[in-house]
Amino acid sequence: MNGLRFEGLGGAVTVVLAGEPLQMMASHRQLWPWSVESGGLLFAPSVGSSDGVVPVSVATPPHPTDRAARSWLKLDHDRCQREIHEQFALGLHFVGYWHTHPELRPSLSSQDRAALRPLHDDPGIDLSRLVMVVIGGSRQRLGVQVSILDRPTRTVHELTAVGEHLAAGTASFLSSS
Ligand SMILES: [Zn+2]
Repeated sequence: MNGLRFEGLGGAVTVVLAGEPLQMMASHRQLWPWSVESGGLLFAPSVGSSDGVVPVSVATPPHPTDRAARSWLKLDHDRCQREIHEQFALGLHFVGYWHTHPELRPSLSSQDRAALRPLHDDPGIDLSRLVMVVIGGSRQRLGVQVSILDRPTRTVHELTAVGEHLAAGTASFLSSS
């Protein structure tokens, strides 16, 4: 699967989702009435502090100790801490979270935004920006929304997908699998 590229904040930030993590996240889409939300953490070799580019190379899969329902998800805190340490030992930085939604065109819900608020002031996070990825539940196309949580300004910004040919390649990959 090809990667996808998203830009925002007037060109100040670019998030690239590599093919491998995209494929893993896509495999957990909520395609059935009984599918529950799932998610994990995102990691990148660079947090973009100099050039604004965050190249997400790893997304961790859902974990059995997470708690989830159709429109609700609570990641297991211990597994998150463990994964952050494991990936840091491999040279990768924690950059954010991904999770699924049942809707076809996903976007951060009001509950998501409320849940993000404590992250602005979390002293355990030393990033100025966090990447939030939401994966929709469409079978025909891969619906992906990427947002940036900008901690200094306490605001959330939705990024725009760039490179339609990449998105088209992704869609054909999914429908043939
Ligand atoms: Zn959500």
